[in-house]
Amino acid sequence: MENERSESNLLYGARAIYEHGLNLYVNVTNRCPNRCDFCLRQNSKGSLYADNLWYQGGEPSKEEFWALLQRRDLHRYPEIVFCGYGEPACRWDDVMWLCDKIRQTGSHFIRVNTNGLANLITGRNAALDLDGRVDAVSISLNASTPEGYDALCHSQFGLRALPAILRFTSTAVLNVPHVRMTAVSTMPKAELEACRQVAESVGADFFIREYIPE
Ligand code: SF4
Repeated sequence: MENERSESNLLYGARAIYEHGLNLYVNVTNRCPNRCDFCLRQNSKGSLYADNLWYQGGEPSKEEFWALLQRRDLHRYPEIVFCGYGEPACRWDDVMWLCDKIRQTGSHFIRVNTNGLANLITGRNAALDLDGRVDAVSISLNASTPEGYDALCHSQFGLRALPAILRFTSTAVLNVPHVRMTAVSTMPKAELEACRQVAESVGADFFIREYIPE
């Protein structure tokens, strides 16, 4: 039954929405301005919490995502999570549009998993858009300094990336009930502690996430 339901969610050759645990995940995009050393997009064949996450020949429109979401009983899920096999902020306006659509169907807990680069991607203070739309934001911090971030995440924004992530986060904490910054467990302890201090300095919680090997 689950397979049957999941197969119907294939768009452009990829799983556009899928269940993982109790939650519903939206695979918004495969694009990302970073090339993190630990990114599964570099290190796996298209899987994360589901298989077939690479889109072929385009990505679904926001309307196509919404058509898929409408087929589900969204009230069943404790969380609806915008993630990607890529960075959801690359489709920021579409994600916000979908949040509005979901909100119109009732009370749902909506989370966005992001690298926090939405301000640089959109060219505006995008974190303001989260107000009233999103219940939780999980932001990958990954390093405590701009140089460390650049060395690990190879962002197209270079040394501007980490300061922009911290500005995004400091606005998000004013507009979203739950904001956390995360780092992977394989980092040295001292760097994890430095990341914790950076996260707390902008008002976010800090969470150490397990590294997902290939
Ligand atoms: S920010 Fe996320 S999607 Fe982008 S390269 Fe890093 S791990 Fe991959």
